[in-house]
Formats: sequence, structure tokens, C-alpha cells
Amino acid sequence: MSLVQSLQVIELIDRVISVSANYASGHINLQKHHHTFTCYKNIIGNRKECRFEAPFLPSRSTIILSPMQKEEDGFSGYFKHYKNIKSNIENTDYPDIDTFYFQNNVISDDHYHHILRAGIKRPRVFLRHQPSEKWHNPFNPIILNIMKSNMDIQFITDIYSCANYVSEYVNKSNRGISNLQREIIKTIDEHPEFDIVEITRNLGIKMLNSVEMPSQEAAWYLLRAPMSKSSAVIVTIPTV
Ligand SMILES: [Zn+2]
Repeated sequence: MSLVQSLQVIELIDRVISVSANYASGHINLQKHHHTFTCYKNIIGNRKECRFEAPFLPSRSTIILSPMQKEEDGFSGYFKHYKNIKSNIENTDYPDIDTFYFQNNVISDDHYHHILRAGIKRPRVFLRHQPSEKWHNPFNPIILNIMKSNMDIQFITDIYSCANYVSEYVNKSNRGISNLQREIIKTIDEHPEFDIVEITRNLGIKMLNSVEMPSQEAAWYLLRAPMSKSSAVIVTIPTV
């Protein structure tokens, strides 16, 4: 992307996406992130990081950064600095970006961008975000004003992310899974005498009650039509 193109993209992002209470028509509370058990779903090991990446790191202006390669000079130092800042922002409220920089030993915007680049794995948009807005999820001011409900909006920088985002929504095979997991533990705790057949039957009922689906999807299931199709087929050829 040329410099002019990227400036145009940033201008577009700033026009359609905001995190500022000034543009939330009084509904900023709907956009505030509160950690819940879903924040730590699918997290491997005991790394307790919010998968929505809240609280969000501040940025003086909207920027698009590409990941730093591990071979680049100073990568490990920048990476450690990034982790440090992520943990500080969780527990500290900073009045402004300069104080945030000062207390986190960031010496300039350029230095900060190097640190951010070491912490990301794909090209990423960092929205203009004041430290006081660290819990604000991005929103579109017009949609928020009309719908008056929490919304999630993000500018996607690469084709893979776009395909990934769409296919996850279409398939959403893990819907209700976190409810289900909690029900499994509850059922086993409450009924240690249940055998596996009873537990499975019990879970089947709990699952049907915890997964929402539109009538079209229910009809699709009842007709036993396949939920996904593939143009590529794998055939195992016995060689022995
Ligand atoms: Zn969270």
C-alpha cells in the first residue's frame, strides 16, 4: 500500500469507526468491555489474557502496523516491553498518553510503534484511543445511535482475516459450548452416581437448550442436509 493509499484508508477508518464517548450519543456504556469467562475461552495454558485484547492500548492517532519479524534488531526487547505494557494497562489508569509513555519508559511515538509491532502477528489497525478510553470497544457512531445496542466493528486489513471472520460466523460450531462445558461440570458434580449414558443424555438436553439457532437452520438440521461442502476430497489409498 502506498503512503497516499494508507492515509486514505486511515481517513476512512476514522470516519466510520470511533471509540470516543463524544460520538456515542450518550450510549458509551454499551460499548464498555467487562471481562467475563468468555474472555479466557480457547486460551491454552494459564496465560490469562483477554481474547478480545481489552483493555486496548492507547494510540495518539489511528495507525496500521505490520508485525515485526523475529530476526529484526531488538525484537526480544521490544516483545518484553510490549508484554509489560499490556500488563500495566490492565491495572493502571493513565490520565493521558504522555504520562502513559513516561511511566512505561516509551521515549517517542516511533519507539512505541516498534513495541507494538513486536506484539502483533498480523497487520493491525490501532485506533485513535486515549488511555481513558481503554475499555471502549470500537463502534460506528451512526449505527450505535440508531440501534442503541452494543456493537463490534473492525477494519480488516487482509483477505485471510476477512474469510476467517465470515466462515467463523457461518459455521459457529462452538456456539453454546461454554454454557455446555459449565453444565457438564455441574452435572458431574451434582450426580456422581450417573453413568456415562445418563450424563450424555442429560448433556444432550442441556445442549439443545443452550444453543440458539434460526428456524432456517433448524429446518436444515431436521432435513439432515450437510452443513458444509468441500470441492476437494481426500481419498486414502491403501499401500500395504
Ligand atoms: Zn475481556
